[in-house]
Amino acid sequence: MLLLKNSLLLLSILIIVVSLWPTRCLIVELPVGKIRRRWSLLFFFICLFAFGYVAYTLTSWEKYQNSIDLIAPLVFLSGAVFVFLVCTLSLHTTHEIKRIYDLEHESTTDPLMGICNRRYMEKRLENEFHRAKRYRHPFAIIMIDIDHFKKINDTHGHQIGDMVLKRFADLVTETVRDSDVVCRYGGEELLIILPHTKGDAALIAAENLRMKVEKTDFVVDCYGGDTQTALRVTASFGVTGLCSEIDTVHRLLGQADKALYFAKKQGRNKVVSCANLDDAEKC
Ligand code: GH3
Ligand code: MG
Ligand code: MG
Repeated sequence: MLLLKNSLLLLSILIIVVSLWPTRCLIVELPVGKIRRRWSLLFFFICLFAFGYVAYTLTSWEKYQNSIDLIAPLVFLSGAVFVFLVCTLSLHTTHEIKRIYDLEHESTTDPLMGICNRRYMEKRLENEFHRAKRYRHPFAIIMIDIDHFKKINDTHGHQIGDMVLKRFADLVTETVRDSDVVCRYGGEELLIILPHTKGDAALIAAENLRMKVEKTDFVVDCYGGDTQTALRVTASFGVTGLCSEIDTVHRLLGQADKALYFAKKQGRNKVVSCANLDDAEKC
């Protein structure tokens, strides 16, 4: 029986020490912050438990009177198994949540530009549109098309074109408000969803963006990263705010597209608001 008691204690020590491994993995994977600090504290407590187990085992190594003496080792073993299960389960749960997050991120993000993709854009646009209609909130969108982008591809190649697209998307994302949603509408076209924003405020935001694009050097790597070159591009912008005549998302997009068409027609590098178009020009 003494052998059984000592074996239970040694097994408990082994399990509690092994529990430190998943706990450490979890701490390493967690971002710096409150939860990580709490898991570090838990790690410290598990170490304390392990020391307690060792101390108890050493002091009671030769002691065994009757079966009551088995209770403490059994409780120790249950505690160690419990700690081990909680730590490994937490690690697996973290991996699973991360995997789901990555999948969700992939399914809503454009791989080249790193902004929201068309699928996400359609869903979000529909949601924001109906919410704005229902609660009578202002709502606007900006459609952007890079000017003469085909020329960039033709002159510098598609790889450089891709880099310019990425830098362009980064610039737009950095410039707009955090609450605005930047999406890839198509090839070199972007759409910004501006919840709680009136058409005239969206017009100012678009003009600000247009000027920023115009002044920006889009630095791209050439010849496999050996040298860098700075390219300048301009873009045209079509802006529309929600108004009573617009009853569908399709119509809203149509208005922005029309405004963009006129921005191109006026010579490009322009911002046109649907509010400034004649009724005949609107769709
Ligand atoms: P405009 O001022 O009228 O908009 O002229 P544009 O040349 O920008 O327009 P056009 O529609 O003629 O050409 C768009 C170009 O964008 C052609 C296409 O190859 C390029 N493009 C679309 N998607 C991508 C992409 O993912 N990567 C690269 N490198 N080019 C792209
Ligand atoms: Mg285009
Ligand atoms: Mg274009």
